[in-house]
Amino acid sequence: MAEPLVDPTDPTARPRALPQAGIDDRALLEVVEFTSDLIRLDTTNRGAGRGHERPAAEYVAERLAEAGLEPVLLEKARGRSNVVARLPGTDPSADALLLHGHLDVVPADPADWSVHPFSGEVRDGVVWGRGAIDMKDMDAMLLAVVRAWNRTGVRPRRDVVLAFTADEEDSAEFGAAYLVQQHADLFDGCTEGLSESGGFTVHAGDGLRLYPVAAGERGTAWLRLTAHGRAGHGSKVNRENAVSRLAAAVHRIAEHRWPLRLTDTVRASLTALAELRGLTPPDFDDPGFDDAALDALLARLGPAAAFVEPTVRNSTNPTALEAGGKVNVIPGSAGALVDGRVLPGGEAEFTATLDALTGPHVEWDYYHREIPLQAPVDSATFAVLCEAIEHFDPGAHAVPYCMSGGTDAKHFARLGVRGYGFSPLRLPPGFDYGAMYHGVDERVPVDALHFGVRVLNRALLAL
Ligand SMILES: [Zn+2]
Repeated sequence: MAEPLVDPTDPTARPRALPQAGIDDRALLEVVEFTSDLIRLDTTNRGAGRGHERPAAEYVAERLAEAGLEPVLLEKARGRSNVVARLPGTDPSADALLLHGHLDVVPADPADWSVHPFSGEVRDGVVWGRGAIDMKDMDAMLLAVVRAWNRTGVRPRRDVVLAFTADEEDSAEFGAAYLVQQHADLFDGCTEGLSESGGFTVHAGDGLRLYPVAAGERGTAWLRLTAHGRAGHGSKVNRENAVSRLAAAVHRIAEHRWPLRLTDTVRASLTALAELRGLTPPDFDDPGFDDAALDALLARLGPAAAFVEPTVRNSTNPTALEAGGKVNVIPGSAGALVDGRVLPGGEAEFTATLDALTGPHVEWDYYHREIPLQAPVDSATFAVLCEAIEHFDPGAHAVPYCMSGGTDAKHFARLGVRGYGFSPLRLPPGFDYGAMYHGVDERVPVDALHFGVRVLNRALLAL
């Protein structure tokens, strides 16, 4: 039985072996080539079942097969391909680790871009194109790492299950949700998972470099509101006007200030950030720690406040209205859509609050709902992830955070997989990581991909 490279019970332990075991120069070339190639394979997900991941899935499967793995392609519908492969670890008694990345991307209009979004062009040390950050970069890093292991004869301690999914950018019906429902056996033994949206550089001012590693996600609560009233002529008295009732409910929802609810992940995040600023972390359970106290703390955290602020409470943003059609006709009903997001543990409060805000004449229901997640930040796994980042960016600090939105990790959580957001990238000052997600001119520096390969390799061999 191989011992882990890092003592998992000691977060301060350094790995025993050379940190670059497993990674060779070819891995650094391949991660760039694979990112670029995957971007060129247009896997735009237009929603409502309209997507086509198969070319990227076949590409990924070929790269895995070349490294001695036996990938399987799985489709719920024609062209909506997923790829799953298992790499046996050296310790058959150890829990397996799930590494997952989605293959689809959101649409991109070439007219808006400086470089064609499906060119995969490498220019001045930067790979351009849709998916460069979300998340063909991580797909490519995973491929580069496992292929390097094969070349250099390195194996991880735990079984590693690799899953490359379809349809993350819509409902996951053809991707992770389908895999979990129909092919759960492929994930036997997986207790923890790594995927997107964590491990990136935040330049937090005064030379402070932070790497938020995600250990939670708010839940998705997409709502449909329907107001009912009495239809009639627009010139008559009507105190049961569905449009007015809807507008009032939408206004109340938009104006509602959700109360502060600090989850374990967010507390850990605020504590770490306060300490890095030389501040004494507040007592979150003190009744005096209210909105004003939080705002004062956030103001002192500088740019780091931006990744905590969306996750200190539930949220509800009205996003669409559907009502009426003619100026002199009062419709009998009117509808609206609301994008709600719910903290771990916040679901009962969310439901009760929506009942009160909508009132007696407006019905509401979930038309799409996904669970919130919370993974432990005091785990040996979390410590290993942080150590690997800090090893390759000395002086930087990895800190926990909760994602404001959701990922495929929600689906794999149904199989008992605790998900962490960990797609490591070292990014230069001024690189607006958040703006890359679904944004114009999405791109990733080659240096960041190299960093990611090294960090992932180190972390995966230590887990
Ligand atoms: Zn993504």
